[in-house]
Amino acid sequence: APAETPQIVIDAHGLPYLNGKLPVKQRVADLLSRMSLAEKAGQMTQAERGALAATPGDIASYDLGSLLSGGGSTPTPNTPAAWAKMIDGFQLRAQATRFQIPLIYGVDAVHGHNNLVGATILPHNIGIGAARDPQLAYGAGKVTAAEVRATGIPWDFAPCLCVARDERWGRTYESFGEDPALVESMETVIQGLQGRPNGTELKRNDKVLATAKHFVGDGGTTYGSSTTGSYTIDQGVTEVTRKQLESVHLAPYQDAVDRGVGSVMPSYSSLDIAGDGQGPVKMHARADMINGVLKGRMGFDGFVISDWQAIDQIPGDYASDVRTSVNAGLDMIMVPYAYQDFRTTLVAEVNAGRINGKRIDDAVSRILTQKFRLGLFERPYADTSGAADIGSAEHRAVAREVAAKSQVLLKNSQGLLPLKKSQKVYVAGSNADDIGNQTGGWTVTWQGSSGDITEGTTVLEGMRRTGADLTYSKDASAPTGGYDVGVVVVGETPYAEGMGDVGNGNDLALSDADKAAVDRVCAAMKCAVLVVAGRPQLIGDRLGDIDALIASWLPGTEGDGVADVLYGRRGFSGQLPLTWPKSEAQLPINVGDTTYDPQFPYGWGLTTRAKIPEGGEKTLKALTAAAAVAERAHDGKAGRALVTQARLIVQQRIGQDITSAAAKPFADADHLLLTGRYGAALEKLRAAYRAA
Ligand code: BGC
Repeated sequence: APAETPQIVIDAHGLPYLNGKLPVKQRVADLLSRMSLAEKAGQMTQAERGALAATPGDIASYDLGSLLSGGGSTPTPNTPAAWAKMIDGFQLRAQATRFQIPLIYGVDAVHGHNNLVGATILPHNIGIGAARDPQLAYGAGKVTAAEVRATGIPWDFAPCLCVARDERWGRTYESFGEDPALVESMETVIQGLQGRPNGTELKRNDKVLATAKHFVGDGGTTYGSSTTGSYTIDQGVTEVTRKQLESVHLAPYQDAVDRGVGSVMPSYSSLDIAGDGQGPVKMHARADMINGVLKGRMGFDGFVISDWQAIDQIPGDYASDVRTSVNAGLDMIMVPYAYQDFRTTLVAEVNAGRINGKRIDDAVSRILTQKFRLGLFERPYADTSGAADIGSAEHRAVAREVAAKSQVLLKNSQGLLPLKKSQKVYVAGSNADDIGNQTGGWTVTWQGSSGDITEGTTVLEGMRRTGADLTYSKDASAPTGGYDVGVVVVGETPYAEGMGDVGNGNDLALSDADKAAVDRVCAAMKCAVLVVAGRPQLIGDRLGDIDALIASWLPGTEGDGVADVLYGRRGFSGQLPLTWPKSEAQLPINVGDTTYDPQFPYGWGLTTRAKIPEGGEKTLKALTAAAAVAERAHDGKAGRALVTQARLIVQQRIGQDITSAAAKPFADADHLLLTGRYGAALEKLRAAYRAA
């Protein structure tokens, strides 16, 4: 309880760094000047909380700077009070050191406070990318920050700025999409988490320090890379030209730096830049990228935290791992168990002159700066006054809106959707009534799991709450007679990292049970199929039998949001953040490829409710105007936004009119806009305008 939480007495020693009125820079310099090398090395050490469970005294003995609950952690507390109590207990140990430097505690809250049962779970990033609404991404960050900080945690290992280029990658759903411009436009999430760039909001009890990860190229690793000799894609090798590296993978990072992101985590993967003569080099060892590009050219002034045990993957013995990574620009190492060994080795390497003392001072200054900015010296213990908002109706309303806007309507024959409440609906499929499957990995546990793992509303429950006449059978037994529409919810079971849905064949195919459910229902009645999955699923051979198809992604705890669009309380507005392939053989497939023949192109998405007046001169004028501006400005940021806007207008036009021949020129124009042929798109639109 906050009232019982001991707060540090400010100015205990009367030392300048404890004076909250002094500028952060001065406080950092003062504290640094008093610290021993061992104390500095301790600040650079991050241990897993499970490693300290039996030996919490080590926090003070080794001057540890940080703790985490990692994905692969032992079971985590599951009430807000238990989290706060645990973290305060660790913090109390840090407060027993001579300078009372507070610990900074970090977790992966990648779609809400996902370690906590009962928290608001937002759609995974891929759904946020589909919603394409920077204001909503900001709102998602805001909800996450408020719920996380209310349990005493000031630091979040999110967002992932990965640009997912191959859907076989098991972390595809952690990405906002395959287009770096889309990823960049969703970085408002950083402001939602942290507040303004260089602002004072970080001190508040509803903001957390964000982490841009995984720097850089995590989403671009080669499947079946010859250098690894296996089908490794997670933690594999990103083989790129310098140009591709810049335009695809590095592009989102400058924006994150400009937004003041407080920390950056390098990627487990190796980077192999064509022609640089180095071959594949682990990102944790790449001084050219971390010191050179990130801290140098981009001007990143936060701190760099390693990934979990990632320095161990650098070739060479442990001393060389430590030296190579710290010299490459890593400021804090997620060891996470070898904290004693790491600190001792780091001190020895500095004493031997193999790591410069200035590098250590730089690293520690960066870490302390963020601790001061977070207000941890003044308030090291949990402020749980916001705990009542965890899982609140207000927070769930934000998650519901994101879920609704993330739904992508891929096909809608003869306007099957939206459903009418008067229709009798038969609901089936493995993901219709499973909160675990619809929240996915990184929910309650690292891998997530099927079943009733947390509080929320499944898709079926959301549909039921409309009061509609529903019958449900998970495996679609006897779906005959008397139904107007069948709704089959299929997709993946939860997974995190690695190759993805391993239990399900490790590929993008539906399970046999899901295929059977689709076949039975769609043979018996008109059917809508919802794909609840972290990435596209191959459905081409059944597409002819399916009347309406929806990419639902991993919508989180608010199934009501899915029901909102199914029943037309909101129009569908999501657009594909990833290319939807026809077959596994097409992978990797991305917008802009020279040959591009997907099932559904990047950006595809129909709507059931137009934001603009239907048909008519006004629509077409708006459309041609948008296309004209897009043509003039397509290479700038504003131009890209206009192209997106133009495409939305085009797609709304197609969505209303999907079966008519009149839609054809609009569909063609949309494809041209998508592939960057702005002039040709403009011509098509003008012709359509004249014809209308
Ligand atoms: C993941 C990171 C995560 C870390 C801590 C690693 O396995 O790659 O994204 O932040 O674990 O849980």
